[in-house]
Amino acid sequence: MQTPAPFDYERATSVEGAVASLAEHGPEARLIAGGHSLLPMMKLRLATPDYLIDINDLELSYVEERMTEVRIGALTRHAELLKSEVLARRFPVFRDAEEVIADPVVRNRGTIGGSVCQADAAEDLSAVCAALKATIVIKGPSGDRTVGLDGFYTGPFTTAVGAGEMVTEIRLPIRQGAGSAHEKVERRAGDFAIAAVSAALWLQGGTITEAGVALAALGPTTIIATRAEELLKGKAPSEELFARAGELAAADCNPIPDGRGPVDYKRHLAGVLTTRALRRAAARALQQEVH
Ligand SMILES: Cc1cc2nc3c(=O)[nH]c(=O)nc-3n(C[C@H](O)[C@H](O)[C@H](O)COP(=O)(O)OP(=O)(O)OC[C@H]3O[C@@H](n4cnc5c(N)ncnc54)[C@H](O)[C@@H]3O)c2cc1C
Repeated sequence: MQTPAPFDYERATSVEGAVASLAEHGPEARLIAGGHSLLPMMKLRLATPDYLIDINDLELSYVEERMTEVRIGALTRHAELLKSEVLARRFPVFRDAEEVIADPVVRNRGTIGGSVCQADAAEDLSAVCAALKATIVIKGPSGDRTVGLDGFYTGPFTTAVGAGEMVTEIRLPIRQGAGSAHEKVERRAGDFAIAAVSAALWLQGGTITEAGVALAALGPTTIIATRAEELLKGKAPSEELFARAGELAAADCNPIPDGRGPVDYKRHLAGVLTTRALRRAAARALQQEVH
């Protein structure tokens, strides 16, 4: 059985304390939330932090609807996202994704903050947040700053979170006429995606006013399909439009061949899943417009 390298451990009691401890213990200190990504990496010695700051006691587990946004605490677990009525009503893409993320054991511990900070290109929630145009709240020694999801991923497994900083919240803008959906193909239930696509559309009077299309496991980071998004804006939803958006997303992704499949297959999935996700997002947006 693999075991991690030795490390010291502290259980943080406040966000400020966790941030201060990161500064005190330097670059080899790491936060631990659900541990479902970090601990396997430590067991394989792919990560060898010498100091772990456990943030599980912090009051960062919530899904709250405010006037113009939904706010999700960084420690909110997959299982809570899955059963959130606010998210099911506002952004059903979350429930679509959570139903196919891992298994109940992982979902009971893994957090949204850990998912976005892990910055694994195959993370479903990163694609969900990108499609919904999320903003990430990052706390550091000198206070809070916010970064749009489109600027959050700086490379494979790297983010805009700097040394001595932590993510505290994910904010999702609320706009009228929203519809969203997540489509995923996996080798077996609960596995990481061979390919996955999150789509969000905002409709007003039958016209798409804003669009989000994000791809998981189809490049070195979460990919935002900007050409597909631009194509969709200002048009009426149609099968032809969604097929064309799928073609653009397939052309703009950058998959690598691996045990989950060759490049051509993954690129084909990118197109098909984009079209499907847009179709379902539009149907949900139209339902919102009717009610
Ligand atoms: C068997 C298995 C199957 C899985 N299947 C899927 C799947 O199908 N789809 C999918 O999307 N995911 C899947 N996952 C990953 C799962 O979603 C994890 O929960 C998630 O990747 C990490 O969340 P965590 O809270 O466990 O993070 P941790 O492992 O605790 O942390 C991950 C990284 O984020 C950092 N971090 C954590 N919280 C913060 C914070 N608030 N601020 C700054 N940095 C932070 C940590 O320092 C670490 O570097 C799977 C995991 C397992 C073990």
